[in-house]
Amino acid sequence: MSKRVCVIIPAYNEEGNIKAIAAAVDDVFKSMSCNYYILFVDDGSTDSTLQVMEELGRENKEVKYLSFSKNNGHQAALKAGIDYSDADAAITMDADMQHPPAMIATLVKKWEEGFDVVYTIRKDQNNLSIFKRFTSALFYKILGKLSDIEVENGSADFRLLDRKVTDELRKIKEQDVFLRGLVKWIGFKQASITYEPAERLSGKSKYSYRKMMMLALQGITSFSTKPLYAAIYIGFVFSLLSLLYIPFAVYSYFTNHTVSGWSSLIVTVTFLGGLQLIILGIIGLYLGKLFMQSKGRPMYIINKTNLE
Ligand code: UDP
Ligand code: MG
Repeated sequence: MSKRVCVIIPAYNEEGNIKAIAAAVDDVFKSMSCNYYILFVDDGSTDSTLQVMEELGRENKEVKYLSFSKNNGHQAALKAGIDYSDADAAITMDADMQHPPAMIATLVKKWEEGFDVVYTIRKDQNNLSIFKRFTSALFYKILGKLSDIEVENGSADFRLLDRKVTDELRKIKEQDVFLRGLVKWIGFKQASITYEPAERLSGKSKYSYRKMMMLALQGITSFSTKPLYAAIYIGFVFSLLSLLYIPFAVYSYFTNHTVSGWSSLIVTVTFLGGLQLIILGIIGLYLGKLFMQSKGRPMYIINKTNLE
């Protein structure tokens, strides 16, 4: 019996790309021996993305879709796709054709060689902005330093997961998932391949700076508690420094320079005030996560689907 692969494609306002990506995926599987179906995840699009999906679903029984009740973000959409997939392996990829559909053949080949996770690393191409390249490199460096998992720079949410892995991921009920980290953390036999990102077919990037920042914070706070220790280290450093300051204060007292300390006082007070706010913020971040998790709300709500 030939194997079946589910291709999960999250889409947020991608009306101009849905048909093209579905056709491209269909094309790739024509020359392969395994069966496939597409599972689109409409992440609360406000354009006609869902209508295009519905239309495709009526024409082609291999096209399925899930539609969220609102925009929950790329990671939640990927997680929903994984949760609802029902195949021997799942491939996740972007809707905008930046993940070359032709690479699917390579992903599947690696899987058939016995790998349970085949992930991809973006070969850095000039068509990415300098800003995006720099911030992404910085993020992976910080994440590597702060956590026990090593996520390579240029890692993409373009990967193949064996059923074993999707079954495990389905059990994970974390409020904010960071799949690039989770997939590394989960283990099993992993292989990586590189790919050259293509240009976005239609529309603009759906990752605003705010969304990128949230993803970075999510990645770090869900894999490391080290930022919480910052308070202790900084506290130690400042107590040591203040020890040095005492003899100086005593010396000033005896040399009658006591009133002229206003500027140094203000500098220390504002500096320490700022530091305390930063550290409170870090603690707040983790407390907030705990709070959200304790409410046990679902990560996403499905409004419409053509899955049985
Ligand atoms: N996406 C999503 N929800 C969002 C933002 C993005 O499902 O809130 C999808 C988007 O439709 C695309 C993929 O995530 O299929 C990657 O987004 P995009 O191409 O905009 O990011 P970039 O390639 O610019 O990093
Ligand atoms: Mg893109």
